[in-house]
Amino acid sequence: MHSPALSRYHSILEGSDKANFLLTKQVLTDERLDQASSRLWQVHDSARTRGPFACGNTTLLDIKSELADRMLEHCELCERRCGANRREGVKGHCGVLDSRVSSEFLHMGEEPDLVPSYTIFFSGCTFNCVYCQNWDISTKPESGIRMEPADLARMIEMRSSGDGRARRAETPANRARNVNWVGGDPTSNLPFILKVMRECRANLPQVWNSNMYLTEEAMRLLDGVIDVYLTDFKYGNDGCAQRLSGVESYTAIVQRNHLIAKQQCEVIVRHLVLPGHIECCTRPVLHWIAENLTGVKVNVMSQYRPEYKAAMFPELRRPMRILEYGKALGIAEDLGLDLCD
Ligand code: SF4
Repeated sequence: MHSPALSRYHSILEGSDKANFLLTKQVLTDERLDQASSRLWQVHDSARTRGPFACGNTTLLDIKSELADRMLEHCELCERRCGANRREGVKGHCGVLDSRVSSEFLHMGEEPDLVPSYTIFFSGCTFNCVYCQNWDISTKPESGIRMEPADLARMIEMRSSGDGRARRAETPANRARNVNWVGGDPTSNLPFILKVMRECRANLPQVWNSNMYLTEEAMRLLDGVIDVYLTDFKYGNDGCAQRLSGVESYTAIVQRNHLIAKQQCEVIVRHLVLPGHIECCTRPVLHWIAENLTGVKVNVMSQYRPEYKAAMFPELRRPMRILEYGKALGIAEDLGLDLCD
C-alpha cells in the first residue's frame, strides 16, 4: 500500500503517469529563444497558468533552460543573490562555476519509497554548515568531474527501464526509481540539470534534494520539472541558522519555499535532529510543518555525527542521544505527522 502523500510519484513508477519534465517537453510554443528575458518569463509563466500551447518548435523546458542559463550572468539562483557573472568565471559565495559531478550511484539508504535512488552529487554548496555530513564535497566546488549533459542523460536512461531502449538495468534491485539531484546542494547547478532533462527520455521521477534556500525565480523554473521535493528543514529560528550555516533570513525563505513546493508537487520533509537543538529547532520546525504542510511525508532523522567543524561548537561535539531522539520523535507523533518508516 503506497502512501497517499506520494501517489503521483508511484503512478509514474507504475507507468500510468509521466514524469513532469517529460510533460513540460510537450508544451510547445512558436516563441524564439533569443528574445529578451522579460518576454521569455512572460511566455514561461503564461504557459504554466494557461496550459499547453498547441504548436511550435520551442518547448517550455527549452525556455526554462534558456532562462536558467542567463541567470549565470548575474547569479541569483539562491537567496545569497551574489550577482556573480559565473559565465565569465566570477565565483559567488558557493564557488561553483561550471557544474561538477562528485559522484553518482544507486543509493540504497534514502527513504523507503525512493530506494533505489539514482543519486547525483554535485560539488559545492550554498550553505556553510559547521557540522556538514558531506563536507568533503560541499566545501570543494572545484572537485568532481565536468560532464556533458547528454552523457549524464544517457547514464540516467541506463539506470532506468522506462523508455523501452535502456535494458541494462534488468532487476528491480538495480533499477533506479528516480533521479535524486543533490550535493552539497543542487541549486547552483540548476542550469546544468535542466540541460540534462532536455536530453533525457527516461520516464523517471525527478527528486530535488535541497536545503531550499532558492530564490523564487529558481523555484519558478523548477515548477513543472520536479516530481518530489526532498527537503532539508534544519532550523526553527534565524539565530541558529546564522550561527551554524552562515545564512540570513532562513526561516522566512525556507518556509516560503516549502509552501511553494507543496503547491507544485509532492514533498518529503527531512529534519536532522541536532544535539541540544530540540526546543529551539526541532519543536518549532515540526509544529510549523503540522500547521502548514498537511499531507506531506516527514523524516525525523537521527544520524547526526560530529563532522567537519562540529568540535568548535560545544553542543555539537557529541552524537545524538537515544533519549533526545526519542523526544524529537515523540513531538512528531503527538502532532500526527505522516512519518517515513
Ligand atoms: S548559487 Fe552560488 S553564485 Fe549563485 S547566488 Fe547562490 S551562492 Fe551566489
